[in-house]
Amino acid sequence: MTIRTRIAPSPTGFFHIGNLRTALWDYFMARAAGGQFLIRIEDTDQERYVPGSIEALLRTFARMGIDWDEGPVLNADGTLGEKGNFGPYTQTKRLDIYKKYADDLLAAGHAYHCFCSPERLEEMRAEQTALKQTPKYDRKCLALSVDEVTARVAAGEKPVIRMQMPEGTVAFDDAIRGRVSFDLKDIDDQVIVKSNGIPTYHLAVVVDDHLMEISHVLRGEEWLSSTPKQIVLHNMLGWIMPVYAHVPLILNPDKTK
Ligand code: GLU
Repeated sequence: MTIRTRIAPSPTGFFHIGNLRTALWDYFMARAAGGQFLIRIEDTDQERYVPGSIEALLRTFARMGIDWDEGPVLNADGTLGEKGNFGPYTQTKRLDIYKKYADDLLAAGHAYHCFCSPERLEEMRAEQTALKQTPKYDRKCLALSVDEVTARVAAGEKPVIRMQMPEGTVAFDDAIRGRVSFDLKDIDDQVIVKSNGIPTYHLAVVVDDHLMEISHVLRGEEWLSSTPKQIVLHNMLGWIMPVYAHVPLILNPDKTK
């Protein structure tokens, strides 16, 4: 098996030392195994985009002597290009790819359209919290027929797409932490595509890790709680999941990042 690792920063701010350490582990793992290390830009949260952060990251890597086999590159004139055969390596350039898999999930009954307004969701959560329940989408829109969905979309409504979390548990062997298991009843029906048609992190990361043939997802342990959702998505899409390894974060004495 070819070892392929990636660092997948979101350009929502500047890289901190903890991310850099995680990137080093990804880099060393790939280099030690004669594999490939790549950079992927996870910019689906366009509202939080910080101009210049990708360029700063690439300059930091270059200064540290961390070379990458695939991903964005800084051209001599300061513009961004990219290298590698698995691109594009920036998520907002891959929207057609995600749409195809979102459509597959809808067709297979693993996902559904949801028209609930932010106000309704907030009310629902407030009620659940008052009843000491874990706030979770109540699946009101799961009952909508295909015809109703089509009619509402034709009338100009813009739904999100949610994945339908199955029942049971998900367990996996984290390469660092060992066996980890999650009860899916505690996990919400995640939004995988926003009302503007842009996927959320969960769908995009799974599609990209699969299509970019990432063998090891080595990342900060802040992402551990996302892993069961991503494993479920791999299963729904019929894909073999990568090896997951969640590394500890570097924290300040007051436990902030
Ligand atoms: N885009 C995530 C970040 O900002 C990466 C999460 C992952 O590695 O799966 O760090």
